[in-house]
Amino acid sequence: MAPMSNADLLLRREQSVARGVASSHPIFAARAEGARVWDVEGREYIDFAGGIGVLNVGHRHPRVLEAICDQLDRFTHTCFQVVMYEEYVRLCERLNAAVPGDFAKKSILLTTGAEAVENAVKIARAATGRPAIVAFNQSFHGRTLLAMSMTGKAGAYRQNFGPFAPDIHHAPYPDEYRGWPADRALEALDELFDTQVPRDQVAAIVIEPVLGEGGFVPAPAEFLRELRRLTEAEGMLLVADEVQSGFGRTGRLFALEHHGVVADMVTMAKSLAGGLPLSAVVGRAEVMDAPAPGGLGGTYGGNPLACAAAHAVLDLFESGDLLERARRQATALAGGFAELQRRHPCIGDVRGLGAMMAMELVRDRVTRAPDPALTRRILDSAREQGLLILSAGRFSNVLRVLPPLEVDETTIAAAIAILDAAFRRHATGSVVSPAAG
Ligand code: PMP
Repeated sequence: MAPMSNADLLLRREQSVARGVASSHPIFAARAEGARVWDVEGREYIDFAGGIGVLNVGHRHPRVLEAICDQLDRFTHTCFQVVMYEEYVRLCERLNAAVPGDFAKKSILLTTGAEAVENAVKIARAATGRPAIVAFNQSFHGRTLLAMSMTGKAGAYRQNFGPFAPDIHHAPYPDEYRGWPADRALEALDELFDTQVPRDQVAAIVIEPVLGEGGFVPAPAEFLRELRRLTEAEGMLLVADEVQSGFGRTGRLFALEHHGVVADMVTMAKSLAGGLPLSAVVGRAEVMDAPAPGGLGGTYGGNPLACAAAHAVLDLFESGDLLERARRQATALAGGFAELQRRHPCIGDVRGLGAMMAMELVRDRVTRAPDPALTRRILDSAREQGLLILSAGRFSNVLRVLPPLEVDETTIAAAIAILDAAFRRHATGSVVSPAAG
């Protein structure tokens, strides 16, 4: 058989796969290991995309593989709603213990991030008897109808997919760089309650503690604390969507832990199961028990192979130094990005929480006019030099990285050098010398 080429596969893909599924990079994977991916032409890449933040423990971690293989030898599926298995129950026990909050918790396991968000909303409505949901501009919660309706980015994600699920209301996310400091965003939230949806109709406020697809904007601690105070005072629930910010990415298992804020429900997915599809909603026991039996579930939810992988991931976090590595990675990334910003005027903002780091590209630093075209060129150029990263943000002008947490300073330095070369090649305007700041 002739060796496969990316170009041939791309042609076949174009003829056979719906174009609505967009891919960041025009390459096809042959294999992956740790923080490396090789394409079908044998080219090697440093993987700082991690399949959109799914591989915090790296590709094919030996402990994860071993756990999956052991489970493969026993059974692959029974459906928890038909014949139960201990691994599901034990995973719920472990997640209940891991999620912040000094109260009794219960969990449900599902398959995708969108499903976790959908279920959190169903549970919130059942628990409060209220219909409305408040989400945020620039958020991303998934592509199912309800999760899409909650997603705060129109363009590609919502396009002509309406009518959208009713009684979803959006407030500005506290994004200081784009003109929404925390106090202004809180005023806008107040205005939403006064003009659009009365407080006593709101079941839940759903927020990403750090925007993922929205461009890695961390919500300030005071904003999250005020949401906690407000939801408690008004009988609403606070739901943290930690699908992207969770599982060690920020140097803590959950981003909320940085601020000492406790949510009533937390949604998680992605790196929870080290590459296998698994998501969860973890929350206050009495809230989680609001829906009557039969109301929650799904044929594949909490698949045994995915549960086995998640147990291995949790073991790694409990017994190893992954969180410590994430913190070292955060320091290296922040330093590297800051240095790039000193050198290249097109980098308007460098931000993030822990190892969830990004930079926002602008045409100039005064007007902050977004530069999505340059962002695309840097992304492509980096790939051509062997580094896979992702874009994000309201204007698609944010470069974000989600490396496996084991990635050390040497690999980060190599990635920064590739990015520096890409900026030198493609960014117009003068390169600012490091000394000139
Ligand atoms: N919530 C957040 C914060 C996400 O980042 C994502 C995926 N990028 C989702 C929900 C949806 O997850 P999935 O694609 O697994 O449905």
